[in-house]
Amino acid sequence: MKKMMVFLAVLGALRNRSFANRVSPYSRSLSTLVLAEHEGGAVKASSLSAVEAAKFLSEDNSISLLLAGSGPSLREAAAYAASCHPSISRVLLADSDKFTYPLAEPWAKLVHVVQQKGSYSHIISGSGSFGKNILPRAAALLDVSPITDVTEISGSNLFVRPIYAGNALSTVRYTGSDPCMLTIRSTSFPLGQVSTPSSAASIDQVDLSTFGEDDAIGKSKYVSLSSQDSERPDLGNARIVVTGGRALKSAENFKMIERLAEKLGAAVGATRAAVDAGFVPNELQVGQTGKIVAPDLYMAFGVSGAIQHLTGMRDSKVIVAVNKDADAPIFQVADYGLVGDLFEVIPEFLEKLPDKK
Ligand SMILES: Cc1cc2nc3c(=O)[nH]c(=O)nc-3n(C[C@H](O)[C@H](O)[C@H](O)COP(=O)(O)OP(=O)(O)OC[C@H]3O[C@@H](n4cnc5c(N)ncnc54)[C@H](O)[C@@H]3O)c2cc1C
Repeated sequence: MKKMMVFLAVLGALRNRSFANRVSPYSRSLSTLVLAEHEGGAVKASSLSAVEAAKFLSEDNSISLLLAGSGPSLREAAAYAASCHPSISRVLLADSDKFTYPLAEPWAKLVHVVQQKGSYSHIISGSGSFGKNILPRAAALLDVSPITDVTEISGSNLFVRPIYAGNALSTVRYTGSDPCMLTIRSTSFPLGQVSTPSSAASIDQVDLSTFGEDDAIGKSKYVSLSSQDSERPDLGNARIVVTGGRALKSAENFKMIERLAEKLGAAVGATRAAVDAGFVPNELQVGQTGKIVAPDLYMAFGVSGAIQHLTGMRDSKVIVAVNKDADAPIFQVADYGLVGDLFEVIPEFLEKLPDKK
């Protein structure tokens, strides 16, 4: 542990000395392609975080957004994209039934086609499952090595990313050929207040004439979409997250967490142990192999605080933990800790909190 602390301190000192979070003074003129995900006629917040990240590459960076899909919702998303962020100068639209569902293989081919025409210096996407699926495949087609999970950008080729499940930060200098391809952690590049652009970005159709029929056929095929209709906020963007662990013991008991989240207007999260035990679906998992969240308030009930869980929530602004074991590692990161039995604490919370209007 001591060794690790020293290692971290040295890494931190090196980073502070040479690569403070700034744009390189030698910044060259760049062009960045952001791979964007859309839903219900709007661009997802994680894709707009990728635009925020692109701004750190250089002060002189022309940012284009690539949207793919088909039908009216794509066109609606394009109109939204063109006027939602002042840094987007161009929206590229791949409108074809080959992209009705965001499957990785046709998308990777699309990125290849667009890059051959546009010669972008950088290609960025969020590090959610959309980006994780597409970007490495596109990088293989373009014969470059992607840098994943970037949390800090210190110039056009200098990036910080967590390693060892977030236990250390590694500074990486990209020395390969263009394009430099990145996935970024959306929580590290929050959207904040964005002013409305004075004029809308141009919307251009991607020429898909070189996109063969076979290019749309990959190893994966769309079967169906299962998503829970819920009025709860999205886990990735919620201001408050209430998470339950294995200690809840059953799906029935986990409903206490859901009721508490409802009262607080919060999203529900879970540990992998709770997901594996079948209490809740996989999409609620927070952590290294789940979602990365950084809400204003993170409440953890019966969560031990394994490193793989911490890596997904340690950037939360305020962390509250309830655990009956005073030595549970979650207390090392918690701002407020309560040693107690969640089967007593949660009912008390539920009783004392007013109903959400
Ligand atoms: C490669 C890899 C990737 C992983 N990815 C993830 C990931 O993305 N997310 C993730 O969460 N995990 C992940 N894990 C699993 C992780 O290592 C832990 O096993 C998991 O997080 C433990 O979940 P838990 O805290 O719910 O369960 P436990 O470790 O069993 O902890 C339960 C806690 O509840 C407390 N408790 C018990 N009863 C009560 C009670 N009545 N009231 C209050 N407290 C109580 C206990 O004291 C204990 O601290 C990964 C593991 C590996 C190897």
